[in-house]
This record gives sequence, C-alpha cells and structure tokens, in this order.
Amino acid sequence: MYDVLIVGGGPAGLSAAMLLGRCMRKVALFDTGVYRNSYSHAMNGFITRDGTPPQEFLQLAREDLVKYEVAFKQKRIMKITKEGDMFQAYDEDEQVYLSRKVLLATGLCDRWPKLEGAEPFYGTSIHHCPYCDGFESKNKPLAAYGLDRKAIGLSLSLKTWSSDVMLFTDGTNKLTREDRDLLARNKVDICTTAIERLEGEGTELKRIVLKNGTVENREALFFATGSDQHSDLARQLNCDFTSKGVVKTYKHQQTNVPGLYVAGDAARDMQLVIVAAAEGTKAGVAINMELQQEFRC
Ligand SMILES: Cc1cc2nc3c(=O)[nH]c(=O)nc-3n(C[C@H](O)[C@H](O)[C@H](O)COP(=O)(O)OP(=O)(O)OC[C@H]3O[C@@H](n4cnc5c(N)ncnc54)[C@H](O)[C@@H]3O)c2cc1C
Repeated sequence: MYDVLIVGGGPAGLSAAMLLGRCMRKVALFDTGVYRNSYSHAMNGFITRDGTPPQEFLQLAREDLVKYEVAFKQKRIMKITKEGDMFQAYDEDEQVYLSRKVLLATGLCDRWPKLEGAEPFYGTSIHHCPYCDGFESKNKPLAAYGLDRKAIGLSLSLKTWSSDVMLFTDGTNKLTREDRDLLARNKVDICTTAIERLEGEGTELKRIVLKNGTVENREALFFATGSDQHSDLARQLNCDFTSKGVVKTYKHQQTNVPGLYVAGDAARDMQLVIVAAAEGTKAGVAINMELQQEFRC
C-alpha cells in the first residue's frame, strides 16, 4: 500500500516525487519514458538549466530522488479505479498497486505536421512553442503553420522574434477579411497554397516547396496543429476537462475527483517545463497536507 501513486515521470511527476519523498511519504512513480519534448535537443528557459538536453535534465532529477523512498517503476499504468477512498492502479503486467492518493502527470502528445521531408527538422528547426525556441530562431525568416484559426495567433506572436513571418495554411482557406486585414497590418504574409515538401541541410530547414512549384525560403517553422492527452486515465476517473482538452484543475492541482491530482501539461495552465515542475510541487504539498489531515487525531 502506497501513500501516493504518481503516473508520469516528466518534470511534473519528478518534482512531485521529490516533495513527497521529502515528506517521507511512500511513493511509487510510473513512467514509460515517452516525454513530450523527446524530439528536442535543448530545454530552454528553465533558470539554472537553460539549454540543458531534456534527457540530461530528467536523469539529474532521477538522481536527486535516490535518497528518498520513491519506487521508480518503468511501467505503463493501464487502468485506475477508485473504491471508497482507495485507488487501485493496474500496470501493463496486470500488477495492482493500492494508494490513498493519485497524481497524474502524464503530459500531452503533439500532433506534429505530417509534411513530406519534415522528420529531420523536428525539434531543431520545426517547433511548436515560440517561448521555448523563438529566441534561437530570432531574426530568421519564419513560417507559422496551421490549418485552422489558431495559426493566426501563432503567426502574430512570432513577430516578437522576427520581422519576417509568413503564415502557411497548406491548401485551406478559413481566413476572413478581418483576419487578412489584421495580418496585413502586422506585416504577416499569407500563403494558402498546399505544401509539396520541406527541404533543408542536415537538421536545418531552408525551403518550403509549394504544390504550384513556388519555393519560399524559411529557416524555422512553428506549428499550431493541436495536442492530445498522452493517457486516458483522467477520463477513466471521470475528471472534468476544459474546452482545450486539458484537465480542469483547482488552485493546488486538485481535480473534481477527491484524492486525485493532475499536474503539468495534462492540466490547465502554461505548458513549460518550469511550470510543470512547479505544479508538481504544488500538488505534492497539497497531497501531503491532505494526508496530514486524515491522520490527525
Ligand atoms: C519539441 C518540444 C520542445 C519543447 N521545448 C521546451 C523548452 O525548451 N522549454 C520548456 O520549458 N518547455 C519545452 N517544451 C514543453 C515541455 O516539454 C513540457 O511542458 C513538459 O515536458 C511537461 O512536463 P510533464 O511532466 O507535464 O509531461 P511530460 O514531460 O510529457 O512527461 C509525461 C510522462 O508521463 C508518461 N506517461 C504518460 N502516460 C503514462 C501511463 N499511462 N503510465 C506511465 N507513464 C505514462 C509519459 O511517457 C511521459 O514520460 C517542449 C515541448 C516540445 C514538444
């Protein structure tokens, strides 16, 4: 019997594990090792760790946990049920784990644009987040890619990092007259022609070749094509979700299900490593306080 089961060993889960380990709670942490930023070579914007490779960051975090009573299990949790105040989690080998509290830190998966020739550029010159990789792409000719209206906001945001931004809608045309006027006023060029393929040198994007034969020179592409929950455990447990597809959480990462917490990208709020880590810590404190209350005479 564990005090807490943490599902997901990214920044959110590891950070919660440290806090709960320091509270001498008995914790099991499950992880399958498929992190959202696994395509990335550098984790930017985390104070003291700016530019650290994501795998190195996770390894350092796991080393920090060695001295605490955190059982690290490289297993996928397939199902979680709740009976009374008790949670039961089932791993891929049908082993069952019991606990008083559960933290889901299972993250999101990105829908990477499926463009011919794109694979070598993922994570080096194709990105989804300007806050993560905008600085490294500053002053370059940039592409904003998306099939729906989310790409409009992305293209305008990219103007912070480069004056040369072009919006690619890849054969779709959902732009209104107002959208076009807004983009024109902000000097964002628009290309609605379908894309044939991407070309570059090594991992560096250089050109976007269109179906009509035109070539646009672009050195980084940012996409707004959406993301999905990495795991359906929150749905299994009947969590409320926001309209953006993330779990609705409260001040300290609580959900509508008593005893169940969600932290990191799977929950609402900004999707950055430092935010995920902070949410993990917040959830850890709240879980510990709940356990303290329950054991108080
Ligand atoms: C390409 C890319 C680059 C990025 N660059 C940056 C950057 O430079 N700076 C920055 O701050 N942010 C960056 N981000 C965002 C950052 O990756 C996320 O905000 C962060 O990883 C969220 O942490 P998390 O712990 O919530 O989820 P994750 O890191 O995704 O970890 C979730 C873990 O849970 C595991 N898991 C899921 N379901 C189960 C299950 N059923 N059983 C067991 N384990 C499970 C997953 O396999 C995964 O290991 C980037 C994202 C991408 C896609």
